[in-house]
Amino acid sequence: MHFMTPEQFQFVKKQAKKIVNTYTTSNDQKVIQAIQALVQEEINSKLTFQDIEQQLVLQPIFDIKSKDQLEQFLAGIKQYVEPFKQPSEAELKKLFPKDKKLKLPKLETFDWQETSYLSWFDAGTNRKYIVYREDGALKGVRGTFSNSAKNGICTVCNQHAKVGMLLVSKKGTDLGTYTKRGNYICEDSKSCNEALSDLNKFVDFVNNLK
Ligand SMILES: [Zn+2]
Repeated sequence: MHFMTPEQFQFVKKQAKKIVNTYTTSNDQKVIQAIQALVQEEINSKLTFQDIEQQLVLQPIFDIKSKDQLEQFLAGIKQYVEPFKQPSEAELKKLFPKDKKLKLPKLETFDWQETSYLSWFDAGTNRKYIVYREDGALKGVRGTFSNSAKNGICTVCNQHAKVGMLLVSKKGTDLGTYTKRGNYICEDSKSCNEALSDLNKFVDFVNNLK
């Protein structure tokens, strides 16, 4: 029944927005058809369908003419998204054993069908936590996060947004030494997840921190 990951859902959302924008800015049938063909191509390159029924689920995308229709379409296809498997609080604590007073996020506030990675910020310690799954196994990194005054490009999702510097320290090769890796990433991880339609970028990002 599920045939999309959250990342693929965000990707389809982006394509659907392209279609709406085309209908709202153009009456030219040729332009509309060109965008429809492009979107079809993009979807085929990104998603794998098991059968024709799955393909038909996305078919209404080509006729989305308004914001209302867009919302309806997205609500209708969401049931086909395999959600990020919600970790338990105990699992999260186990990921960060050194943080004795680990402050956990309100897990019930997350929309797991739109979440490729879980992230939260602890204002008390200025730490930003990032939790993800790799082959089903839960993994986590954390670092200090400082907001920057201006917008920039996020390393994770590549959108131009309000970013901050995430500084992650890791053990050096010599005993007692540390190296630090800094990356600009979105301050708002919900919007980062929404913009994240290519999970490879996220994978590259976390692998670089190891
Ligand atoms: Zn981002």
